[in-house]
Amino acid sequence: MFHSKLSLIMASALLTCGMPAAVSAQTNSKYDVRFIDWPAYNGEDLELTVDASGTRFRLWSPKASEVRVNIYENGHTGSAVKTLQMKSDPATGTWTASVPEKLYGKFYTFQINDGEKWLDETPGVWAKAVGVNGARAAVIDLDSTDPAGWDTDKGPAVRNFTDVIVYEMHHRDMSMHPSSGIANKGKFLALTEHGTLSPQGMKTGIDHLKELGVTHVHILPSYDYNSVDELNLQDNTYNWGYDPLNYNAPEGSYSTNPSDPAARIREMKEMIKALHDAGIGVIMDVVYNHTADNDASNFELTAPGYYHRHWDDGRYSDASGCGNETASDLRQMRDFIINSTKYWADEYHIDGFRFDLMAIHDTETMNEVAAELKKINPSIFVYGEGWTAGDSPLQTERRALKENVGKMTDIAVFSDDLRDAVKGHYTNAADRGFATGKPGLEETVKIGIVAATDHPQVDFSNGNNSKFPYAKSPEMIVNYVSCHDDLCLTDKLRKSMEGEPEQNMLAAAKLAQTIVFTSQGTPFMFAGEEVFRDKQGVHNSYKSPDSINAIDWSNKAKYRDQFDYYKGLVALRKAHPAFRMTSAADIARHLKFDRIDSKKTPNLISYSLTGNANGDEWKEIKVVFNGAGSPQTVNIPKGDWMIVAQDGRISPAGDLGATNGGKMTLSPYSALILARK
Ligand code: CA
Repeated sequence: MFHSKLSLIMASALLTCGMPAAVSAQTNSKYDVRFIDWPAYNGEDLELTVDASGTRFRLWSPKASEVRVNIYENGHTGSAVKTLQMKSDPATGTWTASVPEKLYGKFYTFQINDGEKWLDETPGVWAKAVGVNGARAAVIDLDSTDPAGWDTDKGPAVRNFTDVIVYEMHHRDMSMHPSSGIANKGKFLALTEHGTLSPQGMKTGIDHLKELGVTHVHILPSYDYNSVDELNLQDNTYNWGYDPLNYNAPEGSYSTNPSDPAARIREMKEMIKALHDAGIGVIMDVVYNHTADNDASNFELTAPGYYHRHWDDGRYSDASGCGNETASDLRQMRDFIINSTKYWADEYHIDGFRFDLMAIHDTETMNEVAAELKKINPSIFVYGEGWTAGDSPLQTERRALKENVGKMTDIAVFSDDLRDAVKGHYTNAADRGFATGKPGLEETVKIGIVAATDHPQVDFSNGNNSKFPYAKSPEMIVNYVSCHDDLCLTDKLRKSMEGEPEQNMLAAAKLAQTIVFTSQGTPFMFAGEEVFRDKQGVHNSYKSPDSINAIDWSNKAKYRDQFDYYKGLVALRKAHPAFRMTSAADIARHLKFDRIDSKKTPNLISYSLTGNANGDEWKEIKVVFNGAGSPQTVNIPKGDWMIVAQDGRISPAGDLGATNGGKMTLSPYSALILARK
């Protein structure tokens, strides 16, 4: 079993070497035709339907020789109270059985005979409710799980995806620490609690999110995953959740009672409702690219050999680095991904999806996902990791890679360009970046600033990670300097700036995030960075205890100045459409870099957003970054400038003072933002 995200490092390393072709374009003809005679079935009645006629089961398993469904009274103990033999429907590749009663409150599993033997029981791949540890599917009335007011619940309307400000969080990180003041620690319900305070009286939880002003939270995997034993929650086992078990039911350990199949569903909806009521959208991290188990996965137990990719010799291929990869290029798997995301959008009102290792999926699947979701809600934002963690039988040109984002519509990818250039490379803790005094990264930072779009003043051949403008529009790019993977920003700064005073690290953190929030594209931040949270130097904390992962909310008082600055960045971006342009042409026209010879004057970038860009009330915004550990001076054109940000302070209203231009000096590791009307 591999739950490690370490493998991401390999993937990104391949790309950062600028040689995506290193992932071989091996084609696999046998692989492509293996399933040609398997009929696909896309009916809404897959697996379970309860209606006036009773309870009906329909399992897709074209090559099974026999299939049965077992009915249980309990979610994990006791033997079957009834076993139904299922009838084959060869045209659809499905097997059916029914009873006249509504089996609400009962549990069920499917079992197939693959022609040689009966395989282990499985809840199927479409279980929308499950018992404890997801071993058996549950028959419940989904309508009964809706919180009051659910019918009219909806997330924030999003006009352009560059308007979104993403806050990536794990349920336990946000609430487990005693300083959170939250009662439902580590639970979905944590974000339904208002009025929670740190010991120093600072807002925490959902009130903190509102105060910060982010538009969307991005929750780490929240479907039912494998690694946390839901029968022993007192052990407080921590996991990020990149080990999928049941894709269409929430994780039990985040509910107050994992043995009650309705509780996790109701409580997750209550969380979403509370966030929506606070004006905040909910993006879910989805991991359709692999399953926790190989042969013992629900995919293999329902339709052996189909859902996962294999090499010609029959081995599981492993582009996820976790033991296997799924086959989005096959119709039934593609429909599974599409229908599953649609289900979360419909039933849970989810506002966006972040695809883990998205390049394991093919671009066609991703295009269908985005198009189908748009029909449900045009505000749904879809983005993902445009890389794999290993080789795949899927041809390179079909993969939903960062470099192939131009082949996709309404899909964005993470820009590792800005990430690695601003704070230093993630594979070397001590490596510094543009914002911490390392010279030579200016052009790669500029690639991030223009959201990897074609710009007359940006030389992609000098970029570290990407050699061509891969984004056709800023709506295709998510900019960030840290996320759950690798050292968090605080730890990265502590390792790479060792020996410098903490004040410098705080300054560099502000500068790094200023670059993210003023860049074109969609900004993304990792929960707790706004209070200078750390993870004690642990870079791969996927199963580290809460003592490493939980955010200490006492930091909010200790680093109040940091929080206020982040809050100012969010407010500035929200108030000024110039930072949120929607086309590459607009960026090329309105974003003008000032000429600076970075050989002579490294770690200095200066640009203007001109001509009331994107309808901004400000005629011109001047943005200057000094990533050097010493002051640097720039020459500002004459004019009536308001000071918006300077020396680690920010005022979205531009009332830090005024200047008529001329020589201005930036303190070490700081940003200067000026505006004129
Ligand atoms: Ca689970």
